[in-house]
Amino acid sequence: MTPVSAPAPSRPAAVALLGIAKKFGQFVALRDIDLTVAPGEFVCFLGPSGCGKTTLLRIIAGLERQNAGQVTMAGRDVSGLPPSLRNYGIVFQSYALFPNLTVARNVGYGLETRRRPRAEIDRRVDELLTLVGLSAHKAKYPAQLSGGEQQRIALARALAPSPALLLLDEPLSALDARVRQSLRHEICALQRRFGVTTIMVTHDQEEALAMADRIVVMNHGVVEQVGTPMEVYTRPRSPFVARFVGQMNFLEAIAGDRAGWARLGTVEMRHDATEALVAGTRLTLAIRPEEILVGPAAEGRENRLVTRIRAVQFLGPFTRLSLTLPDGAPALECDVAATAFAALGAAEGSELALALRADALRVFPLAG
Ligand code: ATP
Repeated sequence: MTPVSAPAPSRPAAVALLGIAKKFGQFVALRDIDLTVAPGEFVCFLGPSGCGKTTLLRIIAGLERQNAGQVTMAGRDVSGLPPSLRNYGIVFQSYALFPNLTVARNVGYGLETRRRPRAEIDRRVDELLTLVGLSAHKAKYPAQLSGGEQQRIALARALAPSPALLLLDEPLSALDARVRQSLRHEICALQRRFGVTTIMVTHDQEEALAMADRIVVMNHGVVEQVGTPMEVYTRPRSPFVARFVGQMNFLEAIAGDRAGWARLGTVEMRHDATEALVAGTRLTLAIRPEEILVGPAAEGRENRLVTRIRAVQFLGPFTRLSLTLPDGAPALECDVAATAFAALGAAEGSELALALRADALRVFPLAG
């Protein structure tokens, strides 16, 4: 008889949230949040100011108590546990280093409180300081370091006790653009090296797109969409997500008599969206600025429109054109590679033919 092998037991989620709700007085900050984070995953909570992302992170950390719902970590219900019993490292926007301790003692702090042997602490501190490139600053105090260096120390301190989970609350937002860029790479490299499950709060969509395995897009205390950066960008589930992650043009149109068609003014537009739409209902067509075909690329294509260039903004690698429809209404923004724009020979006031690719057109119910 052939032995039947049992399926490999799957590892429990690193973090699972079930029905999390939070109110501050009468204000509903979070509403019925369900989410699972796989071991080793890098997840970003992304959303505008006040959407509840920090509150959700603080609930996971045990720094805030939910009014309803359950938090589990590696299969263990931690909903009622204090922060000290939850096994995570945390980094805040404001570095929050101990000003009276040297860099080395800051990094070793979590191990000291766990009463690890001195030799182990020294080894781990050296390892982490090497990884964040700050070994030479070991004996300095936080005030003697730049913001970026302090945040690297905060990261090393959070990782030193080998936590099961790393929580990052807007860790890059106090830093200037160049430091932010390099720290992005460092955080991702450290996260992969240690394989530590990571949840980062950010309101910066570019940061989330660049760093996360999955993005949780939040708005007004609810999760609007969860997906990989590619999914969230290419297939936003709502106009809010479409607008918040990247740039998006919205055009009001009417559902056509045939499936896959909509009327934009007097032009029939074909789209690949599969949503069932009642003929004659108002809808919103959406397309990203870089998906619009212009000039020679638009010749002979379906979904052609003739527009006029209202404004031209040179933005380095690409040029952003603000376009109006024939009735003069500001309608579309279109991004064209700077070299392609030069080849068009167009300027403010010129007519510009373009095509809206059917496969790039998303369809949403009319935004209220
Ligand atoms: P930001 O990016 O500005 O930090 P956020 O998405 O992280 O925004 P939260 O800090 O989670 O937002 O706050 C969500 C909402 O809950 C906000 O409207 C905020 O004013 C409110 N809030 C947060 N903490 C408290 C509190 N302790 N008491 C009362 N209201 C609070």
